[in-house]
Amino acid sequence: MSGSFDIAILGAGESGTGAAVLAKQKGLRVWVSDKGIISDKYKNVLNLHGIPWEEQKHTTERIMSVGEIIKSPGIPDTVELVQRARQKEIPVISEIEFAARYTNATKIGITGSNGKTTTAMLTYHIMKKAGLNVGLAGNVGQSFAWQVAEEDFDYYVLEISSFQLDGMFDFKAEIAVLLNITPDHLDRYDQQFEKYVDSKFRITRNQSSVDYFIYLQDDEVIRKNLERSVISSRQIPFTVSADDRCGAYLINENTLVININGEILEMDIKDLALTGRQNIYNTMASGITSRLLDIRKEVIKQSLTEFENIEHRLEHVAVVRGIEFINDSKATNINSTWYALESMNKPIVWIVGGIDKGNDYDSLKELVRQKVKAIICLGKDNQRILEAFSSVVPNIIETSGAADAVKSAYYLGQDGDVVLLSPACASFDLFDDFEDRGNQFKKEVFDL
Ligand code: ADP
Repeated sequence: MSGSFDIAILGAGESGTGAAVLAKQKGLRVWVSDKGIISDKYKNVLNLHGIPWEEQKHTTERIMSVGEIIKSPGIPDTVELVQRARQKEIPVISEIEFAARYTNATKIGITGSNGKTTTAMLTYHIMKKAGLNVGLAGNVGQSFAWQVAEEDFDYYVLEISSFQLDGMFDFKAEIAVLLNITPDHLDRYDQQFEKYVDSKFRITRNQSSVDYFIYLQDDEVIRKNLERSVISSRQIPFTVSADDRCGAYLINENTLVININGEILEMDIKDLALTGRQNIYNTMASGITSRLLDIRKEVIKQSLTEFENIEHRLEHVAVVRGIEFINDSKATNINSTWYALESMNKPIVWIVGGIDKGNDYDSLKELVRQKVKAIICLGKDNQRILEAFSSVVPNIIETSGAADAVKSAYYLGQDGDVVLLSPACASFDLFDDFEDRGNQFKKEVFDL
């Protein structure tokens, strides 16, 4: 391998490999470097396209000689390599930023601390149903860059995390959605919440008066930050209160109203396929987006009633001996678990725990006191959960695997109860990832 490169890509996962394919297609000299082992799937793709790569190391001199770096969102800004690149004024961008240069499609960018995947998938579902030529990318499915290289979509629904937003500069979402902001990933933001908030607000960057910014009015953090931000796009808030100045709101707490361009769409929330307050928010964001794209109200209503819940997000698994089992393995922070607990209307046997990212359990205590009859800790180190909840729920036990947790829950549960796996923690102590945790949970339930 010799000569210099236009672009170095750090990290050969889904986004890095997609970016490499796109760069190559555009005639750029591109090279991929991964500190870990690159999976065979991606190695084959790189080889097939004749893209050079290295693994289990970063050859620093070569990286420092490129014109631009595309960094995987998994690599923190604090690593030495990235710091050095910045010192040398080599732009470090995300795959989303890169891919957006090569498409004229209308982009719907969805961010927030929770609900991104659900809202992105729901929005995509409605748009598909309406017959639009649309791709779903970002953190879900095939990477954006890859699709830009190989497809020709008119629209993209993009699920965008704060780490991706940090590497976005010229990108513009014609429709930007900000679902909520609650503390998460603070380890990557010097433990400073404001930095994380600023990152989320980057979703509005480069927007002008013809674009739209859809956000949750009920979120105090968003409201406060809006006061000190200059946003040029048209702002469309949504709320669960009866505020008819918003693009979407509730009346009588049971009728969802979407009011865009003077046209009203109304739906009983009982008819929504996705349940729970959090999903009313997600539905509102998707519904507003769809109406802005002029999708017919009938199509939206039908899509919202038939959309099937997504795996690992408050997913109904089975009812065994009258006990319902729900898999919410994707709940990896306090806020998502709060909504899960809040949306249950049966006594809960709650399975919680894993790797605690510095959780503050206080905000859950009241709900737990009201609704939870037993707690099953599922983690290597359950100390913080025991400390927080032993005095609230005396019936609290420790387990260290899905089988043990499910059997204990089954033993403690009674007809009419719900067993809720909503861990509020990351999964890496006992499982590969949240999907593995959810799948093992489901398998154990089916084996009962
Ligand atoms: P993300 O992609 O942002 O992680 P998901 O749609 O995968 O979001 O959902 C993650 C978790 O958050 C799930 O437990 C889900 O039930 C919960 N959740 C979904 N939407 C919201 C919301 N709007 N507010 C709070 N929690 C939510």
